[in-house]
Amino acid sequence: MIVGAGVAGLTAATALARKGWQVEIAELGPSDSTSGWGLCLTGPALRALDALGLADACLAEGYGMSVITHVEVDGESAAEVPLPRLIGARRPAMAGIARPLLHRVLRAEAERCGVVVRHGLTVTAVEQDRGLVRVRLSDGTVRQVELLVGADGIRSTVRRLLGFESPVGYQGQMVWRALVPRPSWLTGIHHFAGKPDSAGLVPVSDSQAYVFLTENGVARSVLPEHELAARLRELLAPFAARVREIRPAVSGADAVVRRPVLTGCLKGPWNRGNGVVIGDAAHAPAPQMASGAALAVEDGLLLAEELERHESTAAGLEAFVRRRAERCRTLVDTSVALVGLERAGRLHDAYPLIEACHRLMAEPA
Ligand SMILES: Cc1cc2nc3c(=O)[nH]c(=O)nc-3n(C[C@H](O)[C@H](O)[C@H](O)COP(=O)(O)OP(=O)(O)OC[C@H]3O[C@@H](n4cnc5c(N)ncnc54)[C@H](O)[C@@H]3O)c2cc1C
Repeated sequence: MIVGAGVAGLTAATALARKGWQVEIAELGPSDSTSGWGLCLTGPALRALDALGLADACLAEGYGMSVITHVEVDGESAAEVPLPRLIGARRPAMAGIARPLLHRVLRAEAERCGVVVRHGLTVTAVEQDRGLVRVRLSDGTVRQVELLVGADGIRSTVRRLLGFESPVGYQGQMVWRALVPRPSWLTGIHHFAGKPDSAGLVPVSDSQAYVFLTENGVARSVLPEHELAARLRELLAPFAARVREIRPAVSGADAVVRRPVLTGCLKGPWNRGNGVVIGDAAHAPAPQMASGAALAVEDGLLLAEELERHESTAAGLEAFVRRRAERCRTLVDTSVALVGLERAGRLHDAYPLIEACHRLMAEPA
């Protein structure tokens, strides 16, 4: 039983089903609930998706790219950072993709492997006894399973039901995303330094891109939906000409989202008996490294690998957490350090840290 049909839940489901597990997913949201903005699949994400045979489908639905361009506050000087091509010299280093399309690829493969996804359903109670997990669901039914995977995101219910402390904290930044038409010059990620905010553009298809903006040092708040587009256009006004150029396209409140930067990472083990949490439920980085989804896909893949390698489920889970904990904690800690540097206006100190962390993440998981 997997709780949550996000990136972690769907990839874990596919990887487990391929190794012979019978998998059911309980997903709280409706089948069409994925928010419309895009995300960036970095090299490690593409590598893990490739191991599942899904990288080419994601590249076909998204936009392949291999360079990040950092543009200074003056809008003129820029540094181009080529990224390592982890899935071969002939394929791109990373991909931008609209979330609904990524989810469609992941879900189609999970269902092809026999996974059953049920919507509008969550878990309300968990008990463990002699290697079996009794899971009570919100429709009143009960499942007796060998493995419970909490892939239910940063506010994980499974994490609480397994008895872990919630580690989530607000980092003093609000991040914006909006879908805009792709300008013809945009063929890789562009990051624009600003004072005090920073912004950027990521292509997600031949015709679309998303603009992102990070608001520094603001209190956590919710703005009325109808104010979002106008406020984002205002925040983009001080940036370089190339950002100002796309400002008029930021219209239509349904395409604009604003989220608090929340992070968290479990300190000890992520498993209790035959229950485990993965993805953001175990380790949620700030979006600065664009790598939360990469960790989520790796988790799904390696969970199935370690469970197959070990005699008992509990031993497999322990080996899985041992293999994952340091890498995931480093990524979360680095992302939090990057937030601190951004908030202090020290973007020049942030760039080498980003590069070093990408190099580390390029190492095999
Ligand atoms: C603004 C922003 C931008 C980001 N950009 C990037 C990026 O460019 N690249 C990148 O790699 N990462 C990015 N991330 C991080 C990335 O989105 C997450 O790390 C990733 O989605 C984690 O996947 P997950 O499956 O663990 O959790 P989620 O994607 O949150 O999925 C959890 C699923 O569980 C469901 N669920 C929740 N609670 C319950 C419940 N109680 N019962 C049943 N189901 C439940 C949810 O509906 C959801 O479907 C970004 C994050 C943010 C906030």
